[in-house]
Amino acid sequence: MITIKSAREVETMAAAGRILADTLALMAGHVAPGVTTQDLDRIAEDFIRSHPGARPSFKGLYDFPASLCTSINHEIVHGMPSSERVLEDGDIISIDCGVCLEGLHADSATTVPVGEVSEDVERLLRVTREALDSGIKQAVAGNHVGDIGHAVQKIAEGAGFSVVRELVGHGIGTSFHEEPQVPNYGKPSRGARLQVGMTLAIEPMVNAGRPEIRTLDDKWTVVTTDGSLSAHFEHTVVIEPEGPRILTTVPAAATA
Ligand code: MG
Ligand code: MG
Repeated sequence: MITIKSAREVETMAAAGRILADTLALMAGHVAPGVTTQDLDRIAEDFIRSHPGARPSFKGLYDFPASLCTSINHEIVHGMPSSERVLEDGDIISIDCGVCLEGLHADSATTVPVGEVSEDVERLLRVTREALDSGIKQAVAGNHVGDIGHAVQKIAEGAGFSVVRELVGHGIGTSFHEEPQVPNYGKPSRGARLQVGMTLAIEPMVNAGRPEIRTLDDKWTVVTTDGSLSAHFEHTVVIEPEGPRILTTVPAAATA
Protein backbone atom coordinates (compact mmCIF):
# COMPACT_ATOMS: atom_id res chain seq x y z
CA MET A 1 0.00 0.00 0.00
CA ILE A 2 1.30 3.44 -0.90
CA THR A 3 0.80 5.89 1.98
CA ILE A 4 0.24 9.61 1.63
CA LYS A 5 1.89 11.64 4.37
CA SER A 6 0.29 14.47 6.30
CA ALA A 7 2.00 17.87 6.46
CA ARG A 8 3.03 17.09 10.04
CA GLU A 9 4.58 13.77 9.04
CA VAL A 10 6.47 15.44 6.20
CA GLU A 11 7.92 18.07 8.54
CA THR A 12 9.05 15.37 10.97
CA MET A 13 10.70 13.51 8.09
CA ALA A 14 12.36 16.78 7.04
CA ALA A 15 13.71 17.20 10.59
CA ALA A 16 15.04 13.61 10.47
CA GLY A 17 16.43 14.35 7.02
CA ARG A 18 18.29 17.38 8.22
CA ILE A 19 19.99 15.38 11.00
CA LEU A 20 20.84 12.82 8.34
CA ALA A 21 22.28 15.44 5.97
CA ASP A 22 24.43 16.75 8.80
CA THR A 23 25.52 13.18 9.62
CA LEU A 24 26.64 12.50 6.04
CA ALA A 25 28.46 15.84 5.88
CA LEU A 26 30.22 14.91 9.13
CA MET A 27 31.14 11.53 7.64
CA ALA A 28 32.58 13.13 4.51
CA GLY A 29 34.79 15.24 6.77
CA HIS A 30 36.11 12.14 8.56
CA VAL A 31 36.79 10.01 5.48
CA ALA A 32 40.57 9.75 5.09
CA PRO A 33 43.25 7.11 4.60
CA GLY A 34 43.78 5.15 7.83
CA VAL A 35 40.25 5.61 9.18
CA THR A 36 38.24 2.41 9.74
CA THR A 37 34.63 1.99 8.76
CA GLN A 38 33.86 1.22 12.41
CA ASP A 39 35.31 4.62 13.37
CA LEU A 40 32.84 6.25 10.97
CA ASP A 41 29.95 4.17 12.31
CA ARG A 42 30.63 5.15 15.93
CA ILE A 43 30.91 8.85 15.11
CA ALA A 44 27.66 8.70 13.11
CA GLU A 45 25.73 6.86 15.82
CA ASP A 46 26.91 9.24 18.57
CA PHE A 47 26.02 12.25 16.43
CA ILE A 48 22.54 10.97 15.57
CA ARG A 49 21.75 10.05 19.18
CA SER A 50 22.90 13.51 20.35
CA HIS A 51 19.63 14.83 18.86
CA PRO A 52 16.68 14.31 21.24
CA GLY A 53 14.30 11.64 19.94
CA ALA A 54 16.54 10.58 17.05
CA ARG A 55 18.04 7.13 16.48
CA PRO A 56 19.84 5.39 13.62
CA SER A 57 17.24 3.63 11.46
CA PHE A 58 19.56 0.84 10.32
CA LYS A 59 20.56 -0.47 13.73
CA GLY A 60 18.49 -3.61 14.23
CA LEU A 61 16.68 -3.25 10.89
CA TYR A 62 16.60 -6.82 9.55
CA ASP A 63 19.13 -7.47 12.39
CA PHE A 64 21.76 -5.21 10.81
CA PRO A 65 24.22 -4.42 13.64
CA ALA A 66 25.39 -0.92 12.67
CA SER A 67 24.19 2.63 11.99
CA LEU A 68 25.85 2.97 8.57
CA CYS A 69 26.29 0.80 5.55
CA THR A 70 29.86 1.38 4.34
CA SER A 71 30.59 -0.04 0.90
CA ILE A 72 34.07 0.34 -0.57
CA ASN A 73 35.08 0.27 -4.26
CA HIS A 74 33.34 -2.71 -5.95
CA GLU A 75 30.99 -3.11 -2.99
CA ILE A 76 27.65 -1.63 -4.04
CA VAL A 77 25.59 -1.48 -0.84
CA HIS A 78 25.09 -3.08 2.62
CA GLY A 79 28.78 -3.22 3.56
CA MET A 80 29.11 -3.73 7.30
CA PRO A 81 31.37 -1.38 9.29
CA SER A 82 34.38 -3.15 10.79
CA SER A 83 37.43 -2.29 12.87
CA GLU A 84 39.45 -4.26 10.32
CA ARG A 85 38.33 -2.29 7.30
CA VAL A 86 40.83 0.55 6.86
CA LEU A 87 40.28 3.18 4.18
CA GLU A 88 43.12 3.59 1.71
CA ASP A 89 44.14 6.44 -0.55
CA GLY A 90 42.34 6.07 -3.89
CA ASP A 91 39.33 4.14 -2.52
CA ILE A 92 35.76 5.30 -2.90
CA ILE A 93 33.31 4.70 -0.06
CA SER A 94 29.55 4.73 -0.24
CA ILE A 95 28.00 5.75 3.06
CA ASP A 96 24.32 4.94 3.44
CA CYS A 97 22.42 6.00 6.57
CA GLY A 98 18.93 6.39 7.96
CA VAL A 99 17.56 8.50 10.80
CA CYS A 100 14.33 7.81 12.68
CA LEU A 101 12.70 10.71 14.51
CA GLU A 102 9.39 10.34 16.33
CA GLY A 103 8.70 7.14 14.42
CA LEU A 104 9.36 8.54 10.95
CA HIS A 105 12.38 7.72 8.80
CA ALA A 106 14.66 9.48 6.33
CA ASP A 107 17.18 7.68 4.11
CA SER A 108 20.19 9.08 2.24
CA ALA A 109 23.51 7.96 0.81
CA THR A 110 26.59 9.51 -0.70
CA THR A 111 29.79 8.21 -2.24
CA VAL A 112 33.03 10.02 -1.50
CA PRO A 113 36.64 9.62 -2.61
CA VAL A 114 39.33 8.71 -0.09
CA GLY A 115 42.29 10.97 -0.80
CA GLU A 116 43.11 11.22 -4.50
CA VAL A 117 41.12 9.31 -7.12
CA SER A 118 41.48 9.24 -10.89
CA GLU A 119 39.49 11.35 -13.34
CA ASP A 120 37.55 8.22 -14.39
CA VAL A 121 36.47 7.61 -10.82
CA GLU A 122 35.47 11.25 -10.37
CA ARG A 123 33.33 10.86 -13.47
CA LEU A 124 31.52 7.81 -12.05
CA LEU A 125 30.65 9.79 -8.91
CA ARG A 126 29.57 12.85 -10.90
CA VAL A 127 27.37 10.85 -13.28
CA THR A 128 25.70 8.92 -10.45
CA ARG A 129 24.90 12.18 -8.68
CA GLU A 130 23.52 13.60 -11.93
CA ALA A 131 21.41 10.45 -12.36
CA LEU A 132 19.94 11.02 -8.91
CA ASP A 133 19.21 14.69 -9.68
CA SER A 134 17.57 13.71 -12.97
CA GLY A 135 15.43 11.07 -11.25
CA ILE A 136 14.34 13.51 -8.55
CA LYS A 137 13.19 16.01 -11.21
CA GLN A 138 10.69 13.41 -12.41
CA ALA A 139 9.16 13.01 -8.93
CA VAL A 140 6.20 15.16 -9.88
CA ALA A 141 2.50 14.50 -9.24
CA GLY A 142 0.93 12.90 -12.31
CA ASN A 143 4.19 11.29 -13.41
CA HIS A 144 4.84 7.59 -12.84
CA VAL A 145 7.54 5.62 -11.03
CA GLY A 146 8.84 4.58 -14.47
CA ASP A 147 9.62 8.21 -15.31
CA ILE A 148 12.07 8.33 -12.39
CA GLY A 149 13.78 5.06 -13.37
CA HIS A 150 13.94 6.04 -17.01
CA ALA A 151 15.63 9.34 -16.19
CA VAL A 152 18.20 7.64 -13.95
CA GLN A 153 18.92 4.92 -16.51
CA LYS A 154 19.30 7.40 -19.35
CA ILE A 155 21.99 9.40 -17.56
CA ALA A 156 23.91 6.36 -16.26
CA GLU A 157 23.83 4.32 -19.44
CA GLY A 158 24.35 7.40 -21.60
CA ALA A 159 27.69 7.84 -19.83
CA GLY A 160 28.67 4.22 -20.56
CA PHE A 161 27.89 2.87 -17.08
CA SER A 162 25.24 0.37 -15.96
CA VAL A 163 22.51 0.44 -13.31
CA VAL A 164 21.88 -2.25 -10.71
CA ARG A 165 18.49 -3.86 -11.27
CA GLU A 166 18.03 -6.17 -8.29
CA LEU A 167 18.15 -3.35 -5.73
CA VAL A 168 15.70 -0.46 -5.88
CA GLY A 169 14.56 2.75 -4.24
CA HIS A 170 11.39 2.70 -2.19
CA GLY A 171 8.62 4.49 -0.41
CA ILE A 172 9.53 5.53 3.14
CA GLY A 173 7.68 6.80 6.21
CA THR A 174 6.70 5.04 9.43
CA SER A 175 8.36 1.98 7.90
CA PHE A 176 11.84 2.27 6.41
CA HIS A 177 10.86 0.36 3.28
CA GLU A 178 7.38 1.03 1.96
CA GLU A 179 5.69 0.71 -1.41
CA PRO A 180 6.19 1.57 -4.17
CA GLN A 181 9.49 0.12 -5.32
CA VAL A 182 11.46 2.71 -7.31
CA PRO A 183 13.75 0.92 -9.80
CA ASN A 184 16.71 2.70 -11.39
CA TYR A 185 15.49 1.70 -14.83
CA GLY A 186 12.12 1.85 -16.49
CA LYS A 187 9.87 3.19 -19.16
CA PRO A 188 8.17 6.59 -19.13
CA SER A 189 4.53 6.59 -17.97
CA ARG A 190 4.78 3.07 -16.50
CA GLY A 191 4.36 1.95 -12.93
CA ALA A 192 2.59 3.53 -9.97
CA ARG A 193 1.24 7.03 -10.47
CA LEU A 194 2.90 9.68 -8.33
CA GLN A 195 0.74 11.77 -6.03
CA VAL A 196 1.21 14.76 -3.75
CA GLY A 197 2.24 13.58 -0.27
CA MET A 198 4.15 10.48 -1.40
CA THR A 199 7.62 10.19 0.10
CA LEU A 200 10.23 8.27 -1.88
CA ALA A 201 13.86 7.24 -1.38
CA ILE A 202 15.42 7.57 -4.83
CA GLU A 203 18.81 5.85 -4.98
CA PRO A 204 20.75 5.09 -8.14
CA MET A 205 23.41 2.41 -7.78
CA VAL A 206 25.66 2.79 -10.82
CA ASN A 207 28.40 0.35 -11.81
CA ALA A 208 31.40 1.37 -13.91
CA GLY A 209 31.26 -2.04 -15.59
CA ARG A 210 28.53 -4.62 -15.98
CA PRO A 211 25.27 -4.54 -14.01
CA GLU A 212 25.44 -8.01 -12.44
CA ILE A 213 25.75 -8.32 -8.68
CA ARG A 214 26.33 -10.97 -6.05
CA THR A 215 26.13 -11.12 -2.26
CA LEU A 216 29.21 -12.08 -0.23
CA ASP A 217 29.30 -14.89 2.33
CA ASP A 218 28.66 -12.39 5.13
CA LYS A 219 25.07 -12.39 3.72
CA TRP A 220 25.08 -8.57 3.58
CA THR A 221 27.69 -7.04 1.32
CA VAL A 222 26.52 -6.74 -2.30
CA VAL A 223 29.32 -6.44 -4.86
CA THR A 224 29.70 -6.11 -8.62
CA THR A 225 30.31 -9.54 -10.16
CA ASP A 226 32.98 -8.15 -12.51
CA GLY A 227 34.81 -6.30 -9.73
CA SER A 228 34.14 -2.88 -11.26
CA LEU A 229 33.61 0.17 -9.05
CA SER A 230 30.10 1.14 -7.98
CA ALA A 231 28.66 4.43 -6.74
CA HIS A 232 25.47 5.13 -4.77
CA PHE A 233 23.69 8.41 -4.12
CA GLU A 234 20.30 8.72 -2.43
CA HIS A 235 17.84 11.31 -1.23
CA THR A 236 14.43 11.08 0.41
CA VAL A 237 11.96 13.36 -1.37
CA VAL A 238 8.34 14.35 -0.90
CA ILE A 239 6.11 15.16 -3.84
CA GLU A 240 4.57 18.56 -3.25
CA PRO A 241 2.12 20.46 -5.49
CA GLU A 242 5.02 22.61 -6.75
CA GLY A 243 7.22 19.57 -7.43
CA PRO A 244 9.77 17.43 -5.60
CA ARG A 245 11.23 18.63 -2.31
CA ILE A 246 14.40 16.97 -1.04
CA LEU A 247 14.04 16.17 2.68
CA THR A 248 17.56 14.88 3.30
CA THR A 249 19.32 18.18 2.94
CA VAL A 250 20.13 21.23 4.97
CA PRO A 251 17.66 23.97 3.97
CA ALA A 252 19.35 26.74 1.94
CA ALA A 253 18.28 29.37 4.46
CA ALA A 254 20.16 27.52 7.21
CA THR A 255 23.44 27.52 5.30
CA ALA A 256 23.33 31.22 4.39
MG1 MG B 1 19.80 4.30 1.99
MG1 MG C 1 16.98 3.49 0.56
